Amino acid sequence: YIDKRNNKPLKPLKILITVKTTFKNHLTRIRQIYDTWYKLAPESIFFISDAFDPVLNSTLQGRFVNTSCGSSHDPISLGCKLDEELKLIPKINPTWYCHVDDDNYVNIPALINTLNNFNPEFPYYIGRTATKQPTPQNGRYFWFAIGGAGICLSKAAIKIMTPNIKDLYNLYATRDGMPDDLALGFIMDILGIKMTEVTNFLSQYDNVDALPLHAIIDTPILSFRESDKAFVNLPYFFHPDDDPYKFQTLHCFLFPKQCNPKLRRLG
Ligand code: UDP
Repeated sequence: YIDKRNNKPLKPLKILITVKTTFKNHLTRIRQIYDTWYKLAPESIFFISDAFDPVLNSTLQGRFVNTSCGSSHDPISLGCKLDEELKLIPKINPTWYCHVDDDNYVNIPALINTLNNFNPEFPYYIGRTATKQPTPQNGRYFWFAIGGAGICLSKAAIKIMTPNIKDLYNLYATRDGMPDDLALGFIMDILGIKMTEVTNFLSQYDNVDALPLHAIIDTPILSFRESDKAFVNLPYFFHPDDDPYKFQTLHCFLFPKQCNPKLRRLG
């Protein structure tokens, strides 16, 4: 990839990205991801879901992971999925690992650029806070990274975490009812790894639609907000039926060579 800021090639890095999803989103959100940012780094992206899907399974060539996790939005099901995401890390052995949700658009070159600012030999737990203050939990106070804005861990953080993180789901989601991202922050705090905030990892709580266009280029992770269909401040390039999440529009804006010629263009 080329660094758009100086037109120089980006330093490559070995990254693993897992996308948490659920059966009802396969034909909608996963389809949009598959048609856009997935194409930037297909070998690095895995989807973790809760039901077998023969079509996705064959399209994604082994990078679709079915689990026995529940398919609802409760801490147990979501914790179970994060567990399955984390279990993939030692199999791939990446320099950086990132978790995202299926309503995230990942600008891969911007993410690589951001991660290249940090030394992976140092334990980094990177993300975005969702609270105004450190969260009190089981006698500890810590900042945790919200899952909906993306969370990244360096190789050194993974090394410290792996022997200790036997079963996030069993330990925390079932016992204490902690949401998955909070439980991860709690474990990181126990392991002595403080969160490093990257303010342009953007969740649905951020006004992604207020971002100036020049800032979008450098934003590693953006979120589509389902409740009010808010996303980037670009006009629809394509018919909304072809581009319901505006991911195609953003993708075409960022990577014009990858514009899908089959979509119905507007204007
Ligand atoms: N999700 C899930 N099971 C559900 C609902 C959501 O695994 O029953 C996943 C979904 O695929 C996404 C994440 O949880 O990756 C966040 O879901 P959503 O954006 O719908 O809700 P939010 O928690 O962001 O309001």
